[in-house]
Amino acid sequence: MSQSLLLQNVTVVNPDAVFVSDVLIQNGRVSAIGNGLTGDIVVNGSGLYASSGFVDLHTHLREPGKEEAETIESGSRAAALGGYTAVVAMPNTDPAQDNVATVAFVREQGIKAGLCEVLPSGCITVGRLGESLAPFDQLAKVGVTLCTDDGNGVQSESLMQQALVAAKKLNITMAQHCEVSEMTIGAAMHDGECCSHLGVPGWPAEAEVQMVLRDIELVRRTGGRLHLLHLSTAESVALVRDAKKEGLPITAEVTPHHLSLQDTLLKSFNPIFKVNPPLRTPRDIEALKEGLADGTIDAVATDHAPHAGHTKEQPLDVAPPGMLGLETALAVVNTAVTLDVQKLAALMSWNPARIARLESHQGRPLAVGEPANIAVWDTTSVWTVQKDALASKSKNTPYHGMAVRGRVHHTIFNGELVVHEGKALK
Ligand SMILES: [Zn+2]
Repeated sequence: MSQSLLLQNVTVVNPDAVFVSDVLIQNGRVSAIGNGLTGDIVVNGSGLYASSGFVDLHTHLREPGKEEAETIESGSRAAALGGYTAVVAMPNTDPAQDNVATVAFVREQGIKAGLCEVLPSGCITVGRLGESLAPFDQLAKVGVTLCTDDGNGVQSESLMQQALVAAKKLNITMAQHCEVSEMTIGAAMHDGECCSHLGVPGWPAEAEVQMVLRDIELVRRTGGRLHLLHLSTAESVALVRDAKKEGLPITAEVTPHHLSLQDTLLKSFNPIFKVNPPLRTPRDIEALKEGLADGTIDAVATDHAPHAGHTKEQPLDVAPPGMLGLETALAVVNTAVTLDVQKLAALMSWNPARIARLESHQGRPLAVGEPANIAVWDTTSVWTVQKDALASKSKNTPYHGMAVRGRVHHTIFNGELVVHEGKALK
């Protein structure tokens, strides 16, 4: 028997109830829930919430290929500090995750780091080049549940249609980065009033909306399951709302930054605020929040995109898009939007776990016998983000120096305390 771990006097957040209790963990599972329990290692949970661990559908871990920006180990540590017990690793690595060997490598490195589950996604097209389909059957056999060319949208309608047919047959999900690429050449920020004022090439909302529209039609035709990555425009939210009413198998995510930051920040010409899709307008932000509230948007996903200093700190037009997200996600969302704790847990944990079909995270409640993947957090602590205090190898956070509310205190992965009082234990 391994040593037991006791979360004492914690407020359990489950889909059906919120209640104060002790939670005992042993041999990787929840072994008892009740009052007056004892354990070998005791963690004080007074005033804190405990829910299923957070699940990120959208993490760029950069390994293999760009280990100077992040490794699977450093990214896993950032994830654990953010309360995540599972992340879906995006496939725009080098080599890309379009083959069994690379997928196996990513999974193995995740196991070696031992800080959270790393679920590799697969590509939709070979090399993410948009020319021929990835071998979905082989990828599905090694446990891939979600395929995406993230970073690129799949431009070819016929390839996307075939991918969705395969998705249905293999019970996997195709995740689309919605961007019609010919409309965004050279773009550096949202195409709107602010952008024309600055004379910077703009990223029109239409580039996203047109692909959302096209893919909804493809789902209607094929019945294949589609997940829409990082929605950023009011029109996309409206389209997804209608598609869901129609009963189509479509899910959607939003990032913390699209809920909290707006396009006018680019007046500074600071590339820290350059991201794909770009920061949009207050009207879009309002629509995204409404989408969260009414269930049109299923999940918060970070799009954690580390970039090494020398690549990100370049003029706005050449700097790569992307910002860090894992360690600040809960706080940024909780600061930007008022949500009750069950809704917050649904968006951060239960729904994304279901979308990724993560077996040990399936959106389950904390209950006896369940795998002990747990985040312990609050919604009231105010703290200031300091980029140098982050565990990520890169420092490109747009929140440096900003005060945020809500904090992750402890993270338990596979029954093991991997983050204690905001510090990673390995
Ligand atoms: Zn993307």
